[in-house]
Amino acid sequence: MVVKKIFNLALGRRLILFSTLLLLLFGTTSLAFAFTLPQHVSVGLYFSGTALTSCRLESKEGFLLGNVTDEGFSGTLPLPAYTVLIGTVEHDSLVLRDEDGVLISSDIGSRGCVMPADYETGGTIKIQEKEYRGGVIFKENSSDMLTVINYVSLEEYLYGVVHLEMSQSNPLEALKAQAVTARNFAAANLEKHSDLGFDLCNTTNCQVYGGCAAEYDSTNKAVDETAGLLIWSNKEPVAVYYHKNSGGHTQSIEDVWSYPQPHLIGVDDPHSPNYPWTATLTFDTIAQKLSQAGSDIGEVESLQITERNAAGAVSKLTIKGSKGTKMLEKEKIRTVFGTTLIRSRMFDFGSTYQGTALTVSLNLKGLTTQKAAGDTIYVMGASGKATALSKSSLYVSNGITKIASGEQANVNADTEIETSGTVVISGLGYGHGVGMSQDGAIQMAKDGFAFDDILEFYFTDIEIR
Ligand SMILES: [Zn+2]
Repeated sequence: MVVKKIFNLALGRRLILFSTLLLLLFGTTSLAFAFTLPQHVSVGLYFSGTALTSCRLESKEGFLLGNVTDEGFSGTLPLPAYTVLIGTVEHDSLVLRDEDGVLISSDIGSRGCVMPADYETGGTIKIQEKEYRGGVIFKENSSDMLTVINYVSLEEYLYGVVHLEMSQSNPLEALKAQAVTARNFAAANLEKHSDLGFDLCNTTNCQVYGGCAAEYDSTNKAVDETAGLLIWSNKEPVAVYYHKNSGGHTQSIEDVWSYPQPHLIGVDDPHSPNYPWTATLTFDTIAQKLSQAGSDIGEVESLQITERNAAGAVSKLTIKGSKGTKMLEKEKIRTVFGTTLIRSRMFDFGSTYQGTALTVSLNLKGLTTQKAAGDTIYVMGASGKATALSKSSLYVSNGITKIASGEQANVNADTEIETSGTVVISGLGYGHGVGMSQDGAIQMAKDGFAFDDILEFYFTDIEIR
């Protein structure tokens, strides 16, 4: 059941941060703090490597200069005559000038905020020619550059997030489920970037935020129809996770990262549509990736799935090399080789691949033969004479699948073939598997489930209010 509640929108960020820390440290949920959803968030747009030397602001109706406090924005200086302002850092001050370089403010301060004059009636501001709701806060970073921050209401921030996490063309109930998880993510990660002077960044590090350009009627409606709603577990709003496709069973969080959490328990997932994938890795690549991750095991000789978890995902992968053995556990299996290559841990390669089991297959006019790799290979012709083989007639196989053919098979003049092993991995699903499967949510919405049904299916024992 969804229990709707109007939130007291007073600031509760420190409590949230503290609660989040406690949750992270102890995984406990018996916290006695009253939680209040913040009204605004500050979102880093240009910071660190993307910090600016100057920032162009545009507003058709002019600007309102003011300050941001715990209570929100309060305007102090209307600037109706200007439609363009330029922010810069000059001698450790945050300076505003007009388009012609005329000084407007010699220091707006780090709590200073530039709003479009018509912000209360939905007016927007262009920051570096991209349109945003809310206003702008500048900070000077340690390299004397401008950190540019969008100060925006939490709900309007979500308008700019949902489509970038789940396409706006999907059914409304799935978008609503996404909107609630995005709100929970924001609530659980406020002050994540407090060292940089803002709450959340606009990249995949947090949630991708595109401002007005990412808004659609459907996703804005999904935010509006779930306004203020959060996922709660044991009396606290909780950190929630989602992924593209579970591959048939979602993962308990302790099987992916660290501590168990009562709302993040793997469930059998008949809703996620079939999402098959295949990845091909050479033993050389495997050795190289392991070396990059700090494990030099020499030449790879074999790899083996040594353990699966209750959800069926690979939890231990053991790689034997000429200089040692490395066992990868949990998400390391994906992160070491690349999470876009090893799309999920719901995979198999059928058997243990041994480098020495590599065979060379020759296929000449219907004649097929196999030999162990490394041997020199000859084909006897009808005349009894050993005949040189055409490179294009050769391919290299690991006994299950073709690896390379022709020139790519490293065939030298006397047809000696040298290659290393290759493993083909076949899997299902995409992502870490924790929490909501987005493909599953979309399928459930198509099948007539409401957003709260979807969330209650993927998150265990939660309340939505
Ligand atoms: Zn971030």
